[in-house]
Formats: sequence, C-alpha cells, structure tokens
Amino acid sequence: MNNKPARLYVVVPCYNEEAVLPETAKRLDAFLNGLISEGEIAPDSRVMWVDDGSRDRTWELIDALCDENERFEGLKLAHNAGHQNALWAGMTEAADKCDALVSIDADLQDDINAMRGFLKEYYAGADIVYGVRSKREKDTFFKRFTAEAFYKGMAKMGVETVFNHADYRLLSRRALNELLKYTEVNLFLRGMVPTLGFKTAKVYYERGERLAGESKYPLRKMLAFAMQGVTSFSIKPIRMVTAVGFVFAAAAILAALYTLISHIAGHAVAGWTSTMLSIWLIGGVQLMALGMIGEYVGKIYMEVKRRPRFIVETYKAKTPSND
Ligand code: UDP
Ligand code: MG
Repeated sequence: MNNKPARLYVVVPCYNEEAVLPETAKRLDAFLNGLISEGEIAPDSRVMWVDDGSRDRTWELIDALCDENERFEGLKLAHNAGHQNALWAGMTEAADKCDALVSIDADLQDDINAMRGFLKEYYAGADIVYGVRSKREKDTFFKRFTAEAFYKGMAKMGVETVFNHADYRLLSRRALNELLKYTEVNLFLRGMVPTLGFKTAKVYYERGERLAGESKYPLRKMLAFAMQGVTSFSIKPIRMVTAVGFVFAAAAILAALYTLISHIAGHAVAGWTSTMLSIWLIGGVQLMALGMIGEYVGKIYMEVKRRPRFIVETYKAKTPSND
C-alpha cells in the first residue's frame, strides 16, 4: 500500500505547443485541484512543463503560467532534444520532489481522467501503471495502422512493450529512481520501463484527438523512433544476418550439387561451375562471419549501456543487520 495522499507530479513535454498550452494548462489545473480537494493527492502536487527547445511562443506561455499559478513548474531545454529526452529531463527534475509521477503529452489526446485509475492502482500498491488505449477510432487510419504494426513488429523483434501503451503512465518514486539509474543515452522508455519489474497495473482509456495544433511526430520521426526501439533493445537483426548466412551456405551445397551435375552432364559452359560455386559459398561464409562479428558487437553494445543487473524490491529481516 502506498500512503495517501501522494505528492503527484505531472510531467508534460512540449515542443512547439503554443496552440494547445493554454487549454491544457486550464484543464490540468482544474483536474489537479479537484483531486486535491477530494484528498486524492497532496496539496503541493504540481504540473511540470518541459519546453523541448520550441521555436514558437511555448516558453513565454510556460513562463507566464508559472508566474500566475503555484501549481506550475517549468523547465526549458536549450535545444530540441526529442520527446523521450524531454521526458527524461522532467523525470530527473521531479524525482526527489514527488511520491508519484505521471507523464502525459501536451495535446491531451490521452484522457486525463484515466489518472484517477492510475492513482487507485498506485494506492493499491502498484509501482508502475500503464495507460493503455482501448480504441483508436479518433486516430487516422494511417496512424492506427502504422502504430499497431509498430507494436507487433517490436514484439517480433524481441522487444517487450505493452501493446497500445505510449508514454502515458504513472511511476512511483522508487520505480522512477530505479529507472533513472539506467545510463543509456538512446532512450526508448516503452521498452525500458517493463524491464524494471515491480508490481504493475494497466488502466484502459480512449484516445481522443489532438486539442489543437499538429502532430510533432511525422512519419519520418515515427520510423526513426521504431528503429531506435529495435536497435536499443534487441540484437535480433544481427542474428538474422547470421541466419541468412546459414541459409546461403546451405544453398551453396545445393548449388554445388546442381552445378556439378550440370558439369558432368556436359551442359555447363566452361567456367560457369566454379563461378557459381564460389558466389554462393563466399556469400554464405561472409554473411556468417558478419553475423559472428555482429554477435560480439551486440554484446559490447549491451555492455556499454551499463544497465543495473538487478533491482531490489524489498529487503526483509526480523532484525535488520546494521551496516
Ligand atoms: N514532443 C517533444 N519533442 C519533440 C516532439 C514532440 O517534446 O521533438 C512532445 C509534444 O509536444 C507532445 C508529445 O511529445 O507533448 C507527443 O507528440 P505528438 O502529440 O505530436 O505525437 P503524436 O500524438 O502525434 O504521436
Ligand atoms: Mg499527440
């Protein structure tokens, strides 16, 4: 059981969001005030805006919001670091101020009321609560199709993610602190959070449309993000190279039989047999060798991340040992 009421921080990354900020601020302020008056969260709970190097008036708006309302805190990044890094910045800043942290997009496509469910699960003892989209009717066909293909592709590539969960989630303070111990710089939070362990829960909600403004995730960024997800988490692509190498080497044996038979039967032009054999054999051997090197590169890659090897959830002893 987590103690009530928790000091909640809502972290909102904002990149060129001048069109939605005023409305988002109004809604989040009213929502948090409601939760506070119901005793669901502590009175000093806050919203933290992270300006991800916006080029429009986003920071001026955040600056003014923080002047007029104690509920708000702002963090301005010096340049556009990208959604995941902006979130990380906000999480780092909030880590020792909050009991629980929720991350949500500035366009409020994710239903803020789902946070009530997050809190309920949190008070029941969950350290990680995932917001999961139950329907995607409001998304364009293209977005829905590419997004769902993304989650399925990830699973095939060996990256464990929560289906239809983006970055709308609650983390308890201890889950947050463990997450912040990950030292990798290529962030793919959706893959990292599930590796933490701890007690988790899911809360379903319907995803709406953007309040205003345009998506900051064009196809180009989505593809880069998917690539990031796979290459940050999985060395399966390298294994696939090795597998293709084996297939080619096996094919070389078949090709050898075929070309030899043709040679013996006398329909082969001079020189064809040896050319065919070497192409298949060398191709297969090279791919296998590349895959082998890849295995080591993959190991090095996983090593340099320096991820924690384990995370302690509880320590128990009748009489705690004094150290
Ligand atoms: N965002 C950001 N930095 C970026 C791109 C996006 O902080 O470089 C923020 C953006 O302001 C929003 C969230 O990430 O709060 C998600 O972006 P968006 O809603 O445009 O993505 P979509 O919902 O279309 O996938
Ligand atoms: Mg959005």
